[in-house]
Amino acid sequence: MPIRRAGCWRRLTGRRDVTGTGPRDLAGSAPRDLAGTPHFRRALQGALGVSLGVSGGQRLISFAAPNFGATGKVRGVLVAVVDVVELEQDWRGTLPTVYFTDAGGQVFITNRSELLFWKRAGEGAMMAPGGARYGVAVRHVSGQEIWQQDWSPYVPQRALYLATPLPVIGMDGVALIDEAPARRLAALQAAVVTAVCLFLGALLFLATERRRTLALANAVLEERVGARTRALSETNAALRREVREREEAEEALRRAQAELVQAGKLSALGQMSAGISHELNQPLMAIRSYAENGVAFLDRQRPEKAGEALGRISEMAQRMARIIRNLRAFARQESAPVTRVDLGVVLQSAVELTEARREKAGVSLVWDRPRAPVWVRGGEVRLGQVFVNLITNAADAMEGAAVRRLEIAVTGGVPLTVTFRDTGPGIEEPERIFDPFYTTKAVAGGDGMGLGLSISYGLVQSFGGTILGANAPGGGAVFTVALERWVEEVAA
Ligand code: ADP
Repeated sequence: MPIRRAGCWRRLTGRRDVTGTGPRDLAGSAPRDLAGTPHFRRALQGALGVSLGVSGGQRLISFAAPNFGATGKVRGVLVAVVDVVELEQDWRGTLPTVYFTDAGGQVFITNRSELLFWKRAGEGAMMAPGGARYGVAVRHVSGQEIWQQDWSPYVPQRALYLATPLPVIGMDGVALIDEAPARRLAALQAAVVTAVCLFLGALLFLATERRRTLALANAVLEERVGARTRALSETNAALRREVREREEAEEALRRAQAELVQAGKLSALGQMSAGISHELNQPLMAIRSYAENGVAFLDRQRPEKAGEALGRISEMAQRMARIIRNLRAFARQESAPVTRVDLGVVLQSAVELTEARREKAGVSLVWDRPRAPVWVRGGEVRLGQVFVNLITNAADAMEGAAVRRLEIAVTGGVPLTVTFRDTGPGIEEPERIFDPFYTTKAVAGGDGMGLGLSISYGLVQSFGGTILGANAPGGGAVFTVALERWVEEVAA
């Protein structure tokens, strides 16, 4: 509360309010109107005295302060009187609304002049000096009093009522703090909180929607995966069935091929049987005549000649044994896996086996057996069957040809090849010769079944080799059998 000291002193002198001095009897020496005042008497007792009063329409606050002498006793009193109007001048209209009430509860000082001399009339009203009552709606919020009024446009309509006693000056101070800024702040905070809640709600909604969409997509996906898995399982089962059927078919085919091979061999044997029986018959006849000759030479006492005949008989028997051994080997059903085979031995055996057929057709043979073993991958009997088939085919083809010569040659290198070149008319349809049942030989006559080359093809392939038939540039047919060399590491 600003105190205008100059104003105070002016008023003091103007009203001739003075300090009373005198150590003996201060009360007796004080001006009469001052001596009985409570503030003066309080100052005499050594404390600050304050009095409120209205004089001539002026509101005055009187302060009396003691002045102590060397002995510690009050030696004099300084009295100051403050005109409240002066005090309120700078203060008028400022915020918040403030007033001070005196001991009787009347507004004595305020920054809202319309409230001057009002007093509280119970809990829900204020009373103006004329006795008019103005209502106050009082609410209690969190232990605080909230006033709602419409007495003045300069007093907040809704205000926080704060009151505190001021015992030093003998007044109560009251402040009416406008609720509007707090409300605005609260509204702003509520708006912010609402916005945040809305934002979070929107986020939550979006997340939920996203989750729902994902769940839906997931369900669709799972259904699709399920359907696809079912379809795949069915396809898998069908494939397994097909594989099983295929394996069974392959097994049947293998059996049929084996039977065909055997049938082919038997057919070849049938074709060769006339020649073979002739081949066996010849040495047999020779043995018979050599035996007769031997007997005759013995009768004539010519043992050296008889021994010669016996030697010839032995040679003939060896030849027959070789023919029979080849025949037995040829007829044998070979089921051994691919193994090491000496190409020279197999070719020699095929050449010997077909000797009668060649002789019958008047075919000359050009063939140099390799001196050292030539090891290839194959099966002795099956490879022999291929070579016998190629030689008999060549003999068949050259029947009636002017020149009848068959050349068999082994060529080293990788892969190793054996060529059979004849001087026949050549192959009619080279691209069809390996087809089963393809033959140009009179079937009705029982000459050809058209199986020899297709069986040979399968056999050579099972050894990892190839067989080719073509017409030679100079005429005639040339068959090439390529075989893999036998390498010990590979076999291991
Ligand atoms: P087949 O001897 O029972 O006819 P193959 O499969 O052995 O059966 O031969 C098929 C066909 O290939 C023969 O009918 C023939 O037309 C042809 N052929 C095979 N070898 C020769 C060859 N050296 N010269 C000409 N044609 C051949």
